[in-house]
Amino acid sequence: MTSPSASDPPALSADRARPYVGRFAPTPSGPLHFGSLLTAVASFLDARAHAGTWRLRIDDLDTPRRVPGATDGILRTLAEHALHWDGPVAFQSDHVADYRAALARLSAQDLCFRCTCSRKDLRGHRIYPGTCRTRNVPPGREAAVRIRVPETDYAFEDRLQGRYTECLAPATGDFVVARRDGLTAYQLAVVVDDAAMGVTDVVRGADLLDNTPRQLFLAERLGIETPRYLHLPVIADRSGAKLSKRTAASTIGTGAPERNLQWTLQLLGLEAPSHAAPEALLAWAVPRWDSARLPRGTSFTNWTSL
Ligand SMILES: [Zn+2]
Repeated sequence: MTSPSASDPPALSADRARPYVGRFAPTPSGPLHFGSLLTAVASFLDARAHAGTWRLRIDDLDTPRRVPGATDGILRTLAEHALHWDGPVAFQSDHVADYRAALARLSAQDLCFRCTCSRKDLRGHRIYPGTCRTRNVPPGREAAVRIRVPETDYAFEDRLQGRYTECLAPATGDFVVARRDGLTAYQLAVVVDDAAMGVTDVVRGADLLDNTPRQLFLAERLGIETPRYLHLPVIADRSGAKLSKRTAASTIGTGAPERNLQWTLQLLGLEAPSHAAPEALLAWAVPRWDSARLPRGTSFTNWTSL
């Protein structure tokens, strides 16, 4: 396989037996910010351009980070921007039994071990040093669960970033699949969730590019077919840091959805008509959406604010 290029756009989902199912999966830890809006618009347009389904999942697993009212705020902001999702809103918190089943399947393959290392124990290590691999931590003791990673390359063809390869052992080491507080770790949850929702295509920020090989590994061990990926450049500030919820200025205000969408579409390579309502802007953008025209690279730094 060769890397996708502008002259050779990746094939649409016609080459796959499964109908296109995309998703947007925000975390309810605060209001939607422009980085999330960009991901939402791109995944929405990609799904609609493929005559696919666009699902919404609230990634509310990380209970300590949940902010009351944040989910309602996200739903409201999406609706204001005419980003209408298909079907019911999915919640990670509804999938806890699925996560347990997945963890049991991984454990049955003798891949998991319990780890009692504290943050302090791991200080100074870039990756997990394997301390508890052979320790046999007894059940009953509060422990995280880690998965033993192989010395194997995991590779995939990203629709925008091209081929991405990583050998997990030196890159991430044995990573956590269930946290010490009992919560399922993001890497496992996302693989289980996407499979449960029949997701065929993931469009998300390039800050998650290096998470993908871990997810491919987990999917392989769980016998799950992996989705196609498109990792978008993330909006970065002048210093190159990703805009996040911590950057207050990046929070989307109310009342200007047209401007927000125009700005977002422009970043995605589409010069949208002005004075159009959100619904009309998105309808205009769907047939013009072409992932091959997206800017390459992992961050947008050359943008002007609204
Ligand atoms: Zn340990």
